[in-house]
Amino acid sequence: MTRTDGPAPLAVLSGTLLLALGAYIGVPYLLVQWRNLGLVRHGHGGTRTLALTFDDGPDPASTPAVLDALKAAGVHATFFVLTPAAHAHPDLTARILAEGHQLELHAVTHRHAWTRRPWRAYLDPLRGAAQLAALTGRRPRYHRPPHGAYTLATLLGQRRARLRGAHWSVEAHDWHPDFTPQDVHDRVLAQATPGAVIVMHDAGPGARNTVPALPGLLAALQAAGYALHTLDTLPGLRPLGLRGALTRHAPTATPTEGPR
Ligand SMILES: [Zn+2]
Repeated sequence: MTRTDGPAPLAVLSGTLLLALGAYIGVPYLLVQWRNLGLVRHGHGGTRTLALTFDDGPDPASTPAVLDALKAAGVHATFFVLTPAAHAHPDLTARILAEGHQLELHAVTHRHAWTRRPWRAYLDPLRGAAQLAALTGRRPRYHRPPHGAYTLATLLGQRRARLRGAHWSVEAHDWHPDFTPQDVHDRVLAQATPGAVIVMHDAGPGARNTVPALPGLLAALQAAGYALHTLDTLPGLRPLGLRGALTRHAPTATPTEGPR
């Protein structure tokens, strides 16, 4: 007599779970979070332009100093804000806009997408976009989820909220506990290339380095011939197609390496 039993129920369950995890986290991680398919992360590189972006604010303890430095240098940047902070500090939010900077969505709740319930990860960009629109009268166009982390729920929420995912090509590492303001300055200057999108922080641990580093860094970037743009005006910024995602350089750090 031959055995005709199928796979054990446990094996079927494990296989199904693995497939589900692959669809929910694995594929979004490989294609979007790591290779940035469908995201913006870099201008075209043909001109000496770049974009500074600041995450996690606004914070009255540090954002004003960032704004002061940008104003003194006569340049504009893009701020990916946390909506509770934006609502708690409407004057600061208004100042960001009044001084010509671009305001976009980071999150309502600053948590890595992999650690959230799918429904929460899906709703976060929807709620965030609505909250920013209510505060400023303008819907955000870009969304940079915390840590640049994606699940299928993040992607679906982004799409439903009509937001474009925004990554970066240079990470300042300003949050790194061993980094000094000089380290941040040197790293950004060494890694800046035409078209780069640089991620820094105007709040949280990264601001400890970014606030003191920024005036000198802006002067050095300008001395190197760079014109600083918002994402809206950065030449050649467009979502990566499959070829661009697979052939252009990967982000400078793994997305789970530290806070963003
Ligand atoms: Zn962040």
